[in-house]
Amino acid sequence: MKYIIALDQGTTSSRAVLFNESGGIVDITLKEFTQIFPKPGWVEHDPEEIWKTQYDVLLNLIRRNKVDPASIAALGITNQRETTVVWDKNSGEPVMNAIVWQDKRTADICEEMKLEGLEHYVRKNTGLVIDSYFSSTKIAWMLRNVEGLKEKASRGQILMGTIDTWLIWKLTNGKVHATDYSNASRTMLYNIEKLKWDDQLMDFLQIPGNMMPEVYPSSHHFGNFEFEGHKIPIGGVLGDQQAALFGQACFEVGSAKNTYGTGCFVLMNTGEKIHHSKSGLITTIAWGLEGKIIYALEGSIFIAGAAIQWLRDGLKLIDSAADSDYFARQTTDNEVFVVPAFAGLGAPYWDMYARGAIFGLTRDTGKNHIIKATLQSLAFQTKDVLDAMEKDSGVSTRVLKVDGGASANDYLMQFQADIEGVVVERPEVIESTAKGSAYMAGILTGLWKKEDILKNRKIDRIFKPELDRQSRKKLYEGWKKAVEKTMGWLKN
Ligand code: ADP
Repeated sequence: MKYIIALDQGTTSSRAVLFNESGGIVDITLKEFTQIFPKPGWVEHDPEEIWKTQYDVLLNLIRRNKVDPASIAALGITNQRETTVVWDKNSGEPVMNAIVWQDKRTADICEEMKLEGLEHYVRKNTGLVIDSYFSSTKIAWMLRNVEGLKEKASRGQILMGTIDTWLIWKLTNGKVHATDYSNASRTMLYNIEKLKWDDQLMDFLQIPGNMMPEVYPSSHHFGNFEFEGHKIPIGGVLGDQQAALFGQACFEVGSAKNTYGTGCFVLMNTGEKIHHSKSGLITTIAWGLEGKIIYALEGSIFIAGAAIQWLRDGLKLIDSAADSDYFARQTTDNEVFVVPAFAGLGAPYWDMYARGAIFGLTRDTGKNHIIKATLQSLAFQTKDVLDAMEKDSGVSTRVLKVDGGASANDYLMQFQADIEGVVVERPEVIESTAKGSAYMAGILTGLWKKEDILKNRKIDRIFKPELDRQSRKKLYEGWKKAVEKTMGWLKN
């Protein structure tokens, strides 16, 4: 028996997932780690704690399943994206905590870039919008604020990495400093067409080129993890959302997945072609495989499952997230709209001044209406992004593959099918992220082929659209009107 282990390094926990030869999940280990909030809007992780929890869950997985290290064909890595670690090449010590993707401290540096007129350049070359979400301004912030760092970096003593790069460095004992195309494309420093670090952006932010990792395809021999006398190759690396796209077997142009977690991340495969969005989406590298680069359009929705948490913890309308399904079915009314713009609006609106609101309240509005409308808002937001994708790519989505915690909600999935007029396909195993990176590693070792993902994919349930066109149109118009009214709320 051969195994592949996926290291799934997420925003709140480190997990290790054991896959058997036939691609089935044998076991999962998980450890949460500390979220550090030094100031409002700042979010950090301790890179050593990330490494320690990731190593512990790997070790625990091997031990409790009595896996012979010789039978581990390869490791795959999938990771929270954009989060940035900077460390000393000689000592291996991080110069400060990692700055997490959610961190907003670099808004000023983003403004500097906009004032310099770099918006068009950034979009054209990196596929991204200028935002503190991505890595480049986080590196610049460290270089400006950590004492002595700039000098050391200019002498070539300092390395940077996204979390995949940091884990590869640790796993190979400092021998390999590398990343894959999908992660590089989230730094806002990588030219996604020419496939190289962008000198102009590096110059503007004063980031020395020698800090940056080598970039390789997602299925590649990234070095070995030496364990009990065995050399285990690191064979697959993918950012988490791209890994989910791959794990969901979205290989065809126009195939799309949505992950319903805290936020929602919708990605659509656009093949070997770069589509520059005119509708507020970003362009990203999905993966590099078989000598090809595959691109994707991406829309990020900030608040999705988090709105269900708000129903539970903030309003105390439900005891558990899953109960929202029951209450949503208790009313047939459709007059209430909840826009959960708690942190502004992401794709396709990008309005940081928007705030949440409930519309259409009447004397008989009750808890069921609010729960139903909140649940529906996840589907409406997804429709906003899917419609933008269709507009940008000219390809219409016929099947939406779903995963993530809230995809377990049958009411939501049926409503998604109804409001988009699309077939929603929910797999039995919603661990698409780990699966994506495991398959990249399995492909490298020859254990699996890309097509095996499709073969081994088991569908739990398919939701077909049942709503007539007229009702769909009316509902969606209500939503659009509600969104419009929340926009710019914080502006004078
Ligand atoms: P993340 O990876 O972002 O932490 P998960 O994929 O674990 O998120 O999903 C958790 C989120 O999904 C939570 O925000 C929770 O409120 C929501 N959620 C979980 N189960 C359900 C459900 N049955 N119905 C609606 N929302 C749910």
